[in-house]
Amino acid sequence: MSAVLEIRNLHVNINDSPILKGVNLVIKQGETHALMGPNGSGKSTLAYALTGHPSYEVTGGEVILDGENILEMEADERSRMGLFLAFQYPVAVPGVTVANFLRQAINSRMEAQYEGEDFKGISIPEFARLLRAKMDMLGIDHKFAGRYLNEGFSGGEKKRNEILQLATLEPRFAILDETDSGLDIDALRIVADGVNKLKNENLGTLIITHYKRMLDYLQPQFVHMMMGGRIVESGGPDLAQEIEDRGYEPYFAKHGVEITEE
Ligand code: ADP
Ligand code: MG
Repeated sequence: MSAVLEIRNLHVNINDSPILKGVNLVIKQGETHALMGPNGSGKSTLAYALTGHPSYEVTGGEVILDGENILEMEADERSRMGLFLAFQYPVAVPGVTVANFLRQAINSRMEAQYEGEDFKGISIPEFARLLRAKMDMLGIDHKFAGRYLNEGFSGGEKKRNEILQLATLEPRFAILDETDSGLDIDALRIVADGVNKLKNENLGTLIITHYKRMLDYLQPQFVHMMMGGRIVESGGPDLAQEIEDRGYEPYFAKHGVEITEE
């Protein structure tokens, strides 16, 4: 049976000021959704709140997966539930290679499933096979696995790492937040191509972006617009086209939201 990630009436404060004011969104396994919206509308806040970041205070609502509210879980538990949340600004981890990091991530996921039984982890040859297969599928040079995590990574390499994580961990749901600036065409393509290759009936994806070009590559089935901390419009690719043609301005008036920066 395909799983559903359901965000219900989510309210989130930052420093006591309300940022998300009742977000509702349902993503099924196998679906690709895009979330657009002007700067400051709360897109990243949604992503951070789902990771359980301590600065983002949930003041109402719930996020249901398999009948449980994931907002009550620790971050690693969310990941074991099959939720993948890419961080907007991944930190450098000195001395840890891409391969080491991925192997640790797989092991901690598997360990939880063994529940106390003797667990030795994925063997090195088995992991190497898996990693090679994923890198080949994504067209990533094998040398990349030996690089130190995020150390001197270009924007494109950060994205490549993110997509490789996604491919290796095989989550049920992935939420990818794009940086607001500095994402060059190269990086954008890596994300879009990667996600396209990883699209399958077991993966539900929410891509947060304000690049129409991303959506041209990605062809999401569902497009949502966030404004003033709520999802105010939902549709298909036609919505993205409309935003491209008319900008966000008409929507501010329509939804009674004060114009922020853009
Ligand atoms: P988006 O990703 O859509 O551009 P964000 O979720 O980053 O929007 O921001 C939503 C709102 O929250 C903005 O008004 C922003 O100023 C505010 N905000 C974000 N981070 C913080 C913070 N750390 N402290 C205070 N306000 C913040
Ligand atoms: Mg953002």
